[in-house]
Amino acid sequence: MQAAIRDPGELLRRLQLPPDLACSTAAKTFPVFAPLEYIARIVPGDRTDPLLLQVLPLPAETQSTEGFSADPLAEQDYTLAPGLLKKYAGRALLVTTGACAIHCRYCFRREFPYQQSGPPAWDESLARIAADSTIEEVLLSGGDPLTLTDPVLARLVQRLAEIPHVRRLRVHTRLPIVIPQRVNAEFLGWLTGSRLTPIVVVHANHPQEIDDPTAAALKRLRQAGVMLLNQTVLLRGVNDQAEPLIELSRRLIDAGTTPYYLHQLDRVRGTAHFETPPEVGQQLIAAMRAALPGYATPRFVQELPGEPNKTVLA
Ligand SMILES: *Cc1c(COP(=O)(O)O)cnc(C)c1O
Ligand code: SF4
Repeated sequence: MQAAIRDPGELLRRLQLPPDLACSTAAKTFPVFAPLEYIARIVPGDRTDPLLLQVLPLPAETQSTEGFSADPLAEQDYTLAPGLLKKYAGRALLVTTGACAIHCRYCFRREFPYQQSGPPAWDESLARIAADSTIEEVLLSGGDPLTLTDPVLARLVQRLAEIPHVRRLRVHTRLPIVIPQRVNAEFLGWLTGSRLTPIVVVHANHPQEIDDPTAAALKRLRQAGVMLLNQTVLLRGVNDQAEPLIELSRRLIDAGTTPYYLHQLDRVRGTAHFETPPEVGQQLIAAMRAALPGYATPRFVQELPGEPNKTVLA
């Protein structure tokens, strides 16, 4: 992560593209952060590369669009404690950190109040989880929880395992995709070393992201006995075609990872240019079903405030 590219000009220079493609205003709102391991999978000279478009700040981000806001999911309404969200039955989501190993331009947490997250806020969150015996699954999210160190995470999991009604530990992370070396022995140790059932949800959007080191990292997780799922965000110009989505599912399955969700974009400020109409996702799911085994087609879902579960669109 220390070696990651933070300067849009440098990113474009490395990819043999003109430096004026990047929008400096957009980069000020949400800085560029692209690790070398991810940049290595971008095709040089191609300004439409689907991985480049996930990390490159564009002028379109600065346009304001009706219906796109800072907190489209009304997440502040579901806050049990600073950084602890309980939106759905049985599950609580702990925002462990604001840091990520990549800055995805479409991110729905671009404007999350992260100052309330991190180890100092965990005491209150753990007390709230302990006080609510309906919580049987705790999701570590962020940001990306795997940007924290393994000793810090191991201690957190140990404390969660001490709460009798917590049964499952779910980690939502993009790090195994972005920097696959992060799937190390220490991580596998705390993930599988407690009494909690371990589930990992990774986040890959395009088959080009699943190169050999990434597939190997996913297989290490599977071999450790972890239930391994993937979620994808449907993004205009990145993966809104049947072919890449079908190939993504194939590569995930071959690496032991089940396609879980295809998400309709959350309407967060600055991301309107990535949005596709819901019908596009529905048609893509139909094309995937026609081409793939039943287990390899994800559910197409949308996050709507006030619903008891994510809304299944296909
Ligand atoms: C998506 C989400 C979950 C998990 O939902 P699943 O459908 O079980 O994957 C839990 N909490 C919050 C706040 C979420 O946004
Ligand atoms: S890794 Fe996840 S939380 Fe972080 S910027 Fe990307 S989408 Fe957002």
